[in-house]
Amino acid sequence: MSSPRCLAALSRYFGEGLLWVQASGGNISIKTGNDILIKPSGMRLRQITQKSGYLRLPIKRSKDNQFIFATKNCAVSRKPSIESGMHLLMPHPVVIHTHPIALNALLCSSLPDDAIFSIFNRSGICPVIVSYARPGVSLARRILKELPKAKGPADQSFKVLFLRNHGLVIAARDKKEAIKISRRIHNVLKRFFPRLPGKISGRGIRLRYLGDKLFKARLAASFGLKGLRRSDIERALSPDMAVFCGKGRLDMSGNEILIRAQSQREARFAAEVLAAQLKALSLMKAAGIRPKYLNHKEISGILSMREEKYRQDLLKN
Ligand SMILES: [Zn+2]
Repeated sequence: MSSPRCLAALSRYFGEGLLWVQASGGNISIKTGNDILIKPSGMRLRQITQKSGYLRLPIKRSKDNQFIFATKNCAVSRKPSIESGMHLLMPHPVVIHTHPIALNALLCSSLPDDAIFSIFNRSGICPVIVSYARPGVSLARRILKELPKAKGPADQSFKVLFLRNHGLVIAARDKKEAIKISRRIHNVLKRFFPRLPGKISGRGIRLRYLGDKLFKARLAASFGLKGLRRSDIERALSPDMAVFCGKGRLDMSGNEILIRAQSQREARFAAEVLAAQLKALSLMKAAGIRPKYLNHKEISGILSMREEKYRQDLLKN
């Protein structure tokens, strides 16, 4: 299978519905001999096709073959994903970064790393659990520091990283292996959260424009709206929640959410990210675990990032 075809197939697989990614979150990359194929910032994963929707950047390897660098390509008009550094850190040909709702119900909770590790270890998955770091360069640096602590067989062809308050990275040899690992992770999550569905559709989110850059979002009850509290929408479990729904963009009117946004697309992205947070909170509640939100310092760190501002600007178009 050609690399663009493989990238498009994986993007369809992980980009379908909201289970693995929401809005423009997540990213998939494929390394060929001399290039890396990667999604640009601000785009939806499922928009990637064989022929369009991705960037091709030339790569160089360090002398010891330990690191891969993407070289600047003047022909590229859009910025590659802010997580490109993380994709380049992993030598594996296929790297998949997602924000799975159910996994984030564990990673954004107060459960300690050891408890999360043992839930998965019983099923033969040895995740490297990476403490929270701001997306982009800080996260890539944190991964570099924590990767050597990986437990499990050294000869494993794949690597699984669990990023606290953020999401998942699967680094694999090929598409087949990546999908196999993702299924194993989903099966473990399904055992932990018995009510977890196999798919979470975005169709359960309805938006209505009220005028004056204000949208009303109606979310299906399955997103866990029962007993919705203002703090559930005002605090952020993940960087995307801070970026898409922070700074007073959301308000509540009964069980309906009001979203202040520059465009329908921006409102839709905010509604998806919020729906994912509410679903994660409802899974935590059902399992009797407590959420651990990002603190003020972590949120202001995210909002001050140049890359995140760029991603926000793209949404306004
Ligand atoms: Zn991410």
